[in-house]
Amino acid sequence: MTKLMMGNDVAKAMKERLIQDVEALKANGVNPCLSIIRVGERPDDLAYERGAKKRMELVGITCKTIELSEDISQKELEDAIQKANEDTKIHGILMFSPLPGTLNEEKARQMIHPLKDVDGMNPVNAAKVFSGDPSGFAPCTPEAVLAMLDHYGIVLEGKRVVVIGRSKVVGRPLAMLLLARNATVTICHTRTKELEKTCREAEILIAAAGKANMVTKEMIGESAVVVDVGINVDADGNLCGDVDFEDVKQKASQISPVPKGVGSVTTSVLAEHVVRGAKYLNTVD
Ligand code: NAD
Repeated sequence: MTKLMMGNDVAKAMKERLIQDVEALKANGVNPCLSIIRVGERPDDLAYERGAKKRMELVGITCKTIELSEDISQKELEDAIQKANEDTKIHGILMFSPLPGTLNEEKARQMIHPLKDVDGMNPVNAAKVFSGDPSGFAPCTPEAVLAMLDHYGIVLEGKRVVVIGRSKVVGRPLAMLLLARNATVTICHTRTKELEKTCREAEILIAAAGKANMVTKEMIGESAVVVDVGINVDADGNLCGDVDFEDVKQKASQISPVPKGVGSVTTSVLAEHVVRGAKYLNTVD
């Protein structure tokens, strides 16, 4: 019988810990606060913002959005980031990306203070993730995958893990986090030859390609664990993952659905990062 890995169960378990941490911070006079920087009104950003706000509220974290218009200048954006960097009441900064093409996103990422960079956008944090230094912030989605695997007691050490996708926000950092946990990691991408065969060898297969239903049961090894990070819209306009759920469910031992899978854990990881930021910034003050 295939076991479902549900994001809400993971988020629920994380919520109890987060509430305790936030209460402890508040007892010491620290009100953890996340600042979201949003340029324009992309539907994806607005949807994520709603989810993040709800999650922060649930655990007692303040969440403020800095709304900037789509035609903002680079200088105005950088001023907004700088202001959030300097505000001692803000412990985490999340800037939505991609930014409009008129803006220099790399420069904006570099400007986010590494100690407030709760979605691991600054190259300082990326370097820490890549060097196996746990003191930095990894992007929330790859950490959400680990939180899900941990919650369901899936041991990573020594396991053959295949990650489909090599983006800077998901595939690559995820591969590094898995490596730090002593998994044997293979990264697949659009130029990978024999994708099916490689995926079939995985004990744990993680799909982060952004291609609706591309993973079918022919790509799954017997009893593999399958985690679906993809968020896509299928031909009928329904939300779906990268994994053909009904097909793969017949073969996988454990599988995460879309929706209600990894996406539901991401904002909990974000909340954890804000708490970490608040603890850290108030220790060094
Ligand atoms: P991306 O487009 O930046 O990267 C996709 C990667 O997948 C690329 O490295 C590409 O080489 C690889 N790829 C694409 N098609 C492939 C194919 N047919 N075979 C093999 N490799 C292929 O996307 P991203 O930002 O990394 O996001 C990946 C998916 O995860 C998207 O669906 C996105 O919406 C979703 N996502 C989910 C969350 C969450 O919280 N669950 C967060 C961020 C992104």
